[in-house]
Amino acid sequence: APGEDLLRVEALEAIYGGGIRALSGVDLTVREGEIVALAGSNGAGKTTLLRAIANLLTATGGRITAGRVAYAGRDVARTRTDVLVRNGLVSVLEGRHCFRSLTVEENLIAGGLGRGSGRAELQADLQRVYALFPRLAQKRSLPAGLVSGGEQQMTAIGRALMGHPRLLVLDEPSMGLAPLVTDEIYRILGALNRSDGLTLLVAEQNVALALRHAHRCVVLETGRSILEGLAADLRTRDDIRQVYLGLG
Ligand code: ATP
Repeated sequence: APGEDLLRVEALEAIYGGGIRALSGVDLTVREGEIVALAGSNGAGKTTLLRAIANLLTATGGRITAGRVAYAGRDVARTRTDVLVRNGLVSVLEGRHCFRSLTVEENLIAGGLGRGSGRAELQADLQRVYALFPRLAQKRSLPAGLVSGGEQQMTAIGRALMGHPRLLVLDEPSMGLAPLVTDEIYRILGALNRSDGLTLLVAEQNVALALRHAHRCVVLETGRSILEGLAADLRTRDDIRQVYLGLG
């Protein structure tokens, strides 16, 4: 139900092979219906945290050493990624990751296959993605490797939407994109949140951007969550403005 905890991360710690401690105490809650931004500079541990949530940490040589990840009330630290996806926890990590030689449309369809949807349902879901991202409809027959960076990001998000997420997790959707394209993507994510109640957890290095688009913001620093609050409150705090927004 709206307002209930959908994702809870508690006292999470993680290391990579060779003993690199990437997370050393992260607490984070995402409630149903919220947009939560995960802010923090390069190397703060954002990607590691999102990998841990999607259970993709071991695939990159890391592992959880302490703490808990719960989704929809269940401990999911050992739940396979495809099972998480089928239960609505869908992640777009490492930037865009499209299948570059497949067309935009084939990439989108790939996102719907895990659900075992029939042709009619896949078609309806495709039309919904094209209505959200009209540029993708125009480029549907092109190899994803040949469309712009923004369109690749839209393809990756569209592919995730084909899986009918309840919680969509995105890693720096603005990375390498022009401000206008970033705004377009955030506008569409905001509309999905308002109209469909889609819950979002978005890692974002650009704190100003995060505070503009999220309801709440959690700041990571060297593997720890050091600050959490409503975006509207953080935007007006002098210390935040000085440290993170570069404003006097
Ligand atoms: P970025 O914006 O660069 O992605 P981030 O906040 O997402 O930064 P992480 O990528 O999670 O930070 O990195 C946290 C720490 O873990 C860093 O010290 C990084 O070098 C290290 N790290 C990340 N991935 C790996 C890996 N696969 N193997 C070893 N160390 C890693």
